[in-house]
Amino acid sequence: MAQTINYEKNSILLVDDEKANLMYLNHILGTDYTIYMARGAVEAIERANELSPDLILLDIIMPDIDGYEVLASLKESETTKDIPVIYITGLCDYEDEVKGLNLGAEDYITKPFHDVIVKLRVRNQIKIVNQMRIIERFSMIDQLTDIANRRSFDQQIYKEWRSAIRMKSALSLLMVDVDNFKNYNDTYGHQQGDIALRTIADVLKRNIFRPTDFVARWGGEEFAVLLPSTDLNNASAIAENLRSSIENSTIPEAPTTLTVSIGLNSQTPSQNDSLDVFISKADLALYTAKNGGRNRVCIVP
Ligand code: GH3
Ligand code: MG
Ligand code: MG
Repeated sequence: MAQTINYEKNSILLVDDEKANLMYLNHILGTDYTIYMARGAVEAIERANELSPDLILLDIIMPDIDGYEVLASLKESETTKDIPVIYITGLCDYEDEVKGLNLGAEDYITKPFHDVIVKLRVRNQIKIVNQMRIIERFSMIDQLTDIANRRSFDQQIYKEWRSAIRMKSALSLLMVDVDNFKNYNDTYGHQQGDIALRTIADVLKRNIFRPTDFVARWGGEEFAVLLPSTDLNNASAIAENLRSSIENSTIPEAPTTLTVSIGLNSQTPSQNDSLDVFISKADLALYTAKNGGRNRVCIVP
């Protein structure tokens, strides 16, 4: 069967006041990368913020603001501070190169340059960018279930909590715990238990619909679902749908069903509210669901 490879090119922002230089670099690099261009410093900073390119090739001598200042300004912005920069410049003194590298540029190429050298140095930086992305991705994903891990959840809930305070909007949190899972493991074995956890993660993921909804493995056989801009009523409906979807799904290779208990907390937080209290109330609601007989959704008593 033919396989579709979803291959997205890395992007490079070329910054030079000479149009001919931009055209030439575009000619060298355009086949392998998505190229953006800027003719001056102000445009360069704007485009870097707006496009978040993977790499910037930066000229130093420009009429408005020089390349050193552009780099300093890129390093000050949260959006652009981690974008690698290669200077590509007519300044070829030792002092200029030291200054450029000291300011935080990753590399320094002097004009006139050789096409092959530009291509190779660009390729090396892009390789580092892509490796970093892979490492970041792995540090945020739970290996067993392939959904967000606890570390990723902690960052996300903090971000959404701050945003809910700013927007005065409701944030809902579901704590989802598999019922009697120890029994399941004891009966079918740990490997089958792992398959069950993957299945449950999958059902949770497939049954949340907004791009901002977020599901993570909290730890063990417990999951957390974060629903921004969702009030108690809507969150209850979503929780109930998740609960019944899990009850109605079959776990591959073991002809039995599993259920979950869900604790729900919903709040429109303000500046003085505590995120820890918000989370512990969802936990408390989960205990209520367990004590009430499991396979149910409960809100804070
Ligand atoms: P309750 O309904 O009260 O939640 O009961 P329970 O049996 O689900 O809860 P308990 O905390 O007693 O047991 C949790 C079980 O989850 C025990 C542990 O071995 C299992 N578990 C946790 N993480 C994993 C995992 O990654 N893989 C497998 N197979 N089992 C796991
Ligand atoms: Mg459990
Ligand atoms: Mg548990």
